[in-house]
Amino acid sequence: MAKIQTPQPVRGTQDMFGETEERFAHVVATFERVRRLYGFKGLQLPVIEPTAVFARSLGEATDVVSKEMYTFEDRGGDSITLRPEFTAGIARAYLTNGWQQHAPMKVTTHGPLFRYERPQKGRYRQFHQIDAEIIGAAEPAADVELLVMADQLLHELGIKDGVTLELNTLGDAASRDAWRAALIAYFNDHKDVLSEDSLSRLEKNPLRILDSKDPDDRGVAHAAPKIDEFLSAEAQDFFGAVTAGLDAAGVAWTRNAKLVRGLDYYRHTAFEFTTDRLGAQGTVLGGGRYDGLIENLGGLATPAVGWAAGIERLAMLVDVPSGFQLDAMIVLENDAGVRQAISLLRQLRSAGISADMIASGSPKKRYDKAVRHNPLAILRVNENGYYGLSSEGENPRLVAFLKTLA
Ligand code: ATP
Ligand code: MG
Repeated sequence: MAKIQTPQPVRGTQDMFGETEERFAHVVATFERVRRLYGFKGLQLPVIEPTAVFARSLGEATDVVSKEMYTFEDRGGDSITLRPEFTAGIARAYLTNGWQQHAPMKVTTHGPLFRYERPQKGRYRQFHQIDAEIIGAAEPAADVELLVMADQLLHELGIKDGVTLELNTLGDAASRDAWRAALIAYFNDHKDVLSEDSLSRLEKNPLRILDSKDPDDRGVAHAAPKIDEFLSAEAQDFFGAVTAGLDAAGVAWTRNAKLVRGLDYYRHTAFEFTTDRLGAQGTVLGGGRYDGLIENLGGLATPAVGWAAGIERLAMLVDVPSGFQLDAMIVLENDAGVRQAISLLRQLRSAGISADMIASGSPKKRYDKAVRHNPLAILRVNENGYYGLSSEGENPRLVAFLKTLA
């Protein structure tokens, strides 16, 4: 008989178990707790969207749309894309569900995203993000709210040390257009030193040249015109209100005038929390204000601001949460006691005490097996019921519960 080949996983995907999964779950649980503290509601959205949702919002000129999307025709002939980011889908949902009535809408979501990239450490084809957005809020207080929440989240994950909030403003549409024109003129004068990639971006996406990692571009980018020369008075006030809010909340930040968002729907605030602990992949959380996006999707002009963070990247940085530990492990001493054991397990769990049992293998070895699971307490059970407790750590709830049995 021919040997059956075991299917291999898709390149750039990860199976998570044990410590890897615990780190991941810890990031999500902390995020879910913190977002509730700030009054953000949860959202669950489809993983698949019509391709137009991303093509129209992200723009054809971006790496994500031109090279990284998982796009295919489904059996009905529609062009479907596995979401490569959250914001566009959230904007789509806001419009198609008529959520304007909830504005300003504070929402969060998390889940898998897909990009066809070259897999490497910390870079996958299926990865996961946590995401927070405030839709329908034009005021700088919304930017502050999101940044303060991000800061608290990173603190509660225990990774704020060595992480810096880098902040910039892209100005309003007028400031930004003037800056953009000046950048195109400036880079045109320095065409001879620009990298191939940057040359191709010059007309469509000149802001992206500013954060190019290519050494050829770095020097020219450094001396390029700065947004500050073009900021309108309103845009200056807006940025001032954001920084004053951060100062009031005690959130440290530094100005990075080269931090940009290439897409033209981005306005005002742009930010990244960065670390030097992850090598080349140094951004742990990033976002900004995207007042022009919802209009690009055919909606009324709707101001909005948001951020996203890669869960895998955060999970690499967190202090390992204390490992999975049960309150109680039942050792079934002989098979005649199985009904007593099942009943006791159900009662323990109903009382909010985590419990499991060892009921297979040689009865002599079951106790040792239980010890290896490192539960807080071990309960011996036979056909007469529970009869003994061996406890390393004290669990008052468990002790109180066992008293009720006696
Ligand atoms: P990069 O410059 O690293 O490619 P990006 O600008 O494409 O990042 P965003 O679209 O801003 O990233 O996504 C925000 C965050 O999502 C990143 O900071 C990172 O933590 C995470 N992320 C993005 N792409 C991947 C990936 N392929 N695998 C794992 N995490 C990712
Ligand atoms: Mg990328």
